[in-house]
Amino acid sequence: MQSTILQAAYTEFVEALGAGNVSIDPGIIESYTYMNGLAQGGIGLQWMYRPVAVTLPGSVEDVQAIIEICGKYGLIFKAHSTAWWFMALATCPKTVILDMRRMNNLEIHAEDLYYITEPYVTVGESHIECMRQGVIPHGCGAGPNASNLASATSMQGTGGSSVRTSMNERNVLAVEWITPTGEVLKLGSLNTPGAGWFCGDGPGPSLRGMMRGAVGNNGYNGVFTRVALKLYPWYGPPYEAKGGPPFFDTQEIPNSYLRYVVWSDFEQEADALYQLGEAEIIDYNNRWASGAFTGAMSTSNQEYLEMVKKGDYKEKFGNGFWTFFMHAPSQRAIEYRIKVFEKIVANTGGTIYHCMLFGKRSYEIAIQNAVFGMFIGKAAYMPTSANTGALPMTYETIDQCYKHALPISLAAKEAWTSTDKILNEGRDNCYVCIDEDGHYVHIEHAALVEPWEPLSEPIGAILLGTANALKNNLGIMYMPLHASPKDMMIYQKQQVKIQQLLDPTGKITNHINLKAFEQLMPEEEI
Ligand SMILES: Cc1cc2nc3c(=O)[nH]c(=O)nc-3n(C[C@H](O)[C@H](O)[C@H](O)COP(=O)(O)OP(=O)(O)OC[C@H]3O[C@@H](n4cnc5c(N)ncnc54)[C@H](O)[C@@H]3O)c2cc1C
Repeated sequence: MQSTILQAAYTEFVEALGAGNVSIDPGIIESYTYMNGLAQGGIGLQWMYRPVAVTLPGSVEDVQAIIEICGKYGLIFKAHSTAWWFMALATCPKTVILDMRRMNNLEIHAEDLYYITEPYVTVGESHIECMRQGVIPHGCGAGPNASNLASATSMQGTGGSSVRTSMNERNVLAVEWITPTGEVLKLGSLNTPGAGWFCGDGPGPSLRGMMRGAVGNNGYNGVFTRVALKLYPWYGPPYEAKGGPPFFDTQEIPNSYLRYVVWSDFEQEADALYQLGEAEIIDYNNRWASGAFTGAMSTSNQEYLEMVKKGDYKEKFGNGFWTFFMHAPSQRAIEYRIKVFEKIVANTGGTIYHCMLFGKRSYEIAIQNAVFGMFIGKAAYMPTSANTGALPMTYETIDQCYKHALPISLAAKEAWTSTDKILNEGRDNCYVCIDEDGHYVHIEHAALVEPWEPLSEPIGAILLGTANALKNNLGIMYMPLHASPKDMMIYQKQQVKIQQLLDPTGKITNHINLKAFEQLMPEEEI
């Protein structure tokens, strides 16, 4: 872009934020340009744009000033919290990044079971602080490093603890939201003077659905500066560990139970999940397979390869395994839960393993996942450094996911592993968790790729899985789909309408998705 415009904008950013909170230095810009992960793996590098400037707002006023300056100089803005997700970076030219790391306040209202969080408070931090007061937040399954505000306002928000603590999209209470025109919009009880942050609805209709759509707006609808989220009980002392990462020494959690479980067929596994959900006894659940487990167990690529060669985990976990954690307020309560759990697993032909099965590491992986989702990142990126999904990523009933979506993604993945386009780490590397003690699961199938390898090519597996899911009327990208092709993109169309309402000029939010949909659909349809 023209350097005189950028220089003028930079001068105004410095006036508004202070020189230490703005950068156009090429070295800094470069560090906000690349993201190792799903983006590289899935789509290649062509869509990584260099931002023109990076800003560090510290308040609502700073955010408003940045938006105003962007509008004045024809720049696009994009906010991120911890930037674990690839859509956090620039997705088109002329973008100014708002790195929200200076906004990291956390306010806990344990008695009223909610907390107010700013963007840069991580899942891990909020857990530790809340546990000290006998409560826990839901931890988005992305891991302890990610922001709960981001998943609640702009992303998806499920995780292994969703079985007990719901999903972040459903934990949202009041919200402070700076729209693309710089207006401060207050959702829920916050909009009533003096009422506080305790309720997501009213006065008037709830706007939370509009805020985030089906699976989040990915930073296209403005900037979220604070959100209140629900809290849930934590029975007993805070989680404590000694030693060093990644395999800390966890101290025993009283009145808890942690096990791995394997089922040998999908029908029985699905039946067990329905029953476990209905029994309302589980506090954390997560399905992985040997690929993810080997990634979590190993500390180097050499060790990973040796573990694969020995084949220990593939033999036991090759067709997937579950981690289940239960935590109760009393010994009697945990005894009851264990009895119910063991009965359901036995009746459905499952095998229960102690988590020390493969030694201390395998125990620490289970317990740290159960408390914080600690090993998700490690499993997702070892050993290739990039991960993609063999779609469909479905969020549907257990039957839909197990009996229809999973076989489709397995077939898509096998077609690509057989020609070495993605890593063959075992037949099944599927991640699943039950949500809200219900009949719903969310399912995604991790596939590992090294994007720099000449043969690597994950996008075909994604397209094949998507096409076969569409043919079978299955939801993709966590969205249930209408059977009628006419209504299939209903969520996306509504998101486009909302974006146009919030940013009528279409000039200051990153409108890449708007353009794409305009090309896909006739004008009257949008
Ligand atoms: C390996 C891996 C596993 C994951 N697993 C899960 C999972 O189990 N469940 C799940 O729900 N998600 C998952 N995710 C997706 C995502 O990382 C999470 O939803 C996470 O909460 C995002 O938090 P973050 O701080 O990384 O957000 P960021 O990466 O900073 O941002 C995510 C998106 O939200 C926007 N955004 C962030 N903050 C703001 C803000 N303050 N204002 C406006 N827009 C903003 C960004 O522009 C971006 O598009 C996973 C991602 C990875 C890489």
